Amino acid sequence: EDASPGKVGTRFDLEKETELRFEVEAGDGAEQVELELLSGMAEVFGSELNRNKKYTFGPGAKIAVFTWQGCSINLYGKPEVAYVSKDTPMLLYLNTHAALEQMRKQAEKENERGPRVMVVGPTDVGKSTVCRLLLSYAVRVGRRPTFVELDVGQSGVSVPGTVSALCIERPADVEEGFSVQAPLVYHFGSTTPGTNIKLYNKLTSCLAEVFSQRCEVNRKASVGGCIINTCGWVKGSGYQALVHCASAFEVDVVLVLDHERLYNELKRDLPHFVRVVLLPKSGGVVERSKECRREARDEKIREYFYGFCGVTFYPFSYEVRFSDVRIYKIGAPSIPDSCLPLGMSQDDTQLKLVPVTPGRDLTYHVLSVSSADDGEDGVRKGIVETPVCGFIVVTNVDTQAQVMKVLSPAPRPLPRHTLLIMDIRFMDMK
Ligand code: ATP
Repeated sequence: EDASPGKVGTRFDLEKETELRFEVEAGDGAEQVELELLSGMAEVFGSELNRNKKYTFGPGAKIAVFTWQGCSINLYGKPEVAYVSKDTPMLLYLNTHAALEQMRKQAEKENERGPRVMVVGPTDVGKSTVCRLLLSYAVRVGRRPTFVELDVGQSGVSVPGTVSALCIERPADVEEGFSVQAPLVYHFGSTTPGTNIKLYNKLTSCLAEVFSQRCEVNRKASVGGCIINTCGWVKGSGYQALVHCASAFEVDVVLVLDHERLYNELKRDLPHFVRVVLLPKSGGVVERSKECRREARDEKIREYFYGFCGVTFYPFSYEVRFSDVRIYKIGAPSIPDSCLPLGMSQDDTQLKLVPVTPGRDLTYHVLSVSSADDGEDGVRKGIVETPVCGFIVVTNVDTQAQVMKVLSPAPRPLPRHTLLIMDIRFMDMK
């Protein structure tokens, strides 16, 4: 079946170890671009392409098709740009994978644990792409690595404002990325760690703890190790958060993308047995504007409710009575140390659950549904460290009737009654 009747393909013949880079125009109504491998072998960010299959990429996609052996490709539609580059760091990335695989083999032999890897660098250096590549390569050689997503701005696993962990069992889908079945997700509530760095570090520790527990009972997970994606904030508290993460996860390897100062600082500040490696970024990584990032975040939330290209979800809209839920914000506004009650520290205020009185200003906010038990006194205990089971968006608030209308992926009733408010909003334009 021809997915694009009448469209004439543009053919690209690639020599070995080169890549075709293309971008799909962004914005509503932009035309999709299709990719087909005609001969030879090629991969997109570590996932192999099938021959004579058409892969579709939507608005804003930025793709690289790399070939180790040489290949011919057809592109259908009008990409914004499309060019072949001989200059790619893929060989270095593959060597990195080979070194990690060596460590896994060693771990297997000596009944040790596999490599725990943290990928760091400023924004737009291709951190997420390197993570995807290393995870796909690992799973292709039979490993079961864990992906830890700490980028609260551009999460590859869940909606923005969350941190998460995902067991990787098959390579990323060429069009849709990793299949996100049953990720472990925690509520952070904002798109930058700086909003509440104490909470951010706390959640990092939570994920590390859960991962370590899993490694104790699951040998494959332990040998597979983990790949941790981090935020692009590498100064001040952002840097401290990286150091904290390295120690919480007891990382063995830190891959620093394109940032020599950060590389030197981490070498200085991390224990000597941590291997800190400086890697170049790919010239193909495209810088994204603030606007572009905001759109990507919005798109991620839309996908959560409405699905992705091929898979359409039909979300539900229903009313929830204020009296049936408890809404909290994590973190009280900080107050001067001198005003804190005796024996209380700023840490406590940043991790405190503050009840939110529902009002009109809730409209459009994303709320996480905590998986915490609804039991009377258990409610407040440990909610911060409890994973979430899903998200809803408030679409309307009626203070008179004391109800709010929500957009939800599942029909009523809500599975749990403890809701955590994000400062992220989503306007449903469907
Ligand atoms: P952030 O600052 O959001 O954390 P990042 O450093 O994780 O960004 P990526 O998300 O990995 O960067 O890459 C940015 C964009 O560049 C993505 O859309 C990705 O698909 C694209 N990209 C990465 N590598 C290439 C390449 N070699 N050729 C073309 N596009 C690429």
